[in-house]
Amino acid sequence: MHGLKRERGILFVISGPSGVGKNSVLTQLLKEVPGLCYSVSATTRPPRTGEVDGVNYFFMSKEEFLRKVGTGDFLEHEEYVGNLYGTPRGYVEEKLGEGYDIAMDIECRGAAQIKRMMPEAVLIFLTPPSIEDLKARLLGRSTDSPEVIEKRIRKAEVEMGEMYKYDYYVVNDELELAIEDIKKIMWAERLKVARLAKPSVTK
Ligand code: 5GP
Repeated sequence: MHGLKRERGILFVISGPSGVGKNSVLTQLLKEVPGLCYSVSATTRPPRTGEVDGVNYFFMSKEEFLRKVGTGDFLEHEEYVGNLYGTPRGYVEEKLGEGYDIAMDIECRGAAQIKRMMPEAVLIFLTPPSIEDLKARLLGRSTDSPEVIEKRIRKAEVEMGEMYKYDYYVVNDELELAIEDIKKIMWAERLKVARLAKPSVTK
């Protein structure tokens, strides 16, 4: 035992255009990386088939969401293709304070807000090998209506340009390789000296 302890957990923000595979990557990371928790967001979007309240999202009405905005319950919140999404503040602060690392899947403006508030957060952009590849994935998954898919494709084209504001990029061509890349980023960030708690006695 080396006795070195980190001051706080690390916040890993993962963004990327709709359909790039953030869910699959995160599901696997949570199984494989010890000490990593997931921040479940709140949303006013209706659940998709198979989505579970409290697991995928906290699903709520617009009224409830706006009430929580008013009481400062969100670390950040944004509108995305007609729905509201927000990161519950309490869970994130509690887990980071306990030394757990947190992964969250949020869009680019929310990620930029987090980075302004917490410069030590690590922003990872998951990108498809090409926009054509992304379109094919979105059309293939058919969990949304054609109009929503069209909106998400247009949004994705804008989002791809946001990558340059991130700390790291990971290409999701093959899922396993993308996961390995993110694990390496997490490991390196965990070993940063700047994140260590200062020793209480110095010579
Ligand atoms: P979806 O409807 O496909 O689940 O998510 C749509 C977008 O909302 C995705 O880009 C996702 O990353 C983003 N998102 C999910 N939760 C949050 C959140 O709490 N805050 C922000 N800013 N974006 C979120």
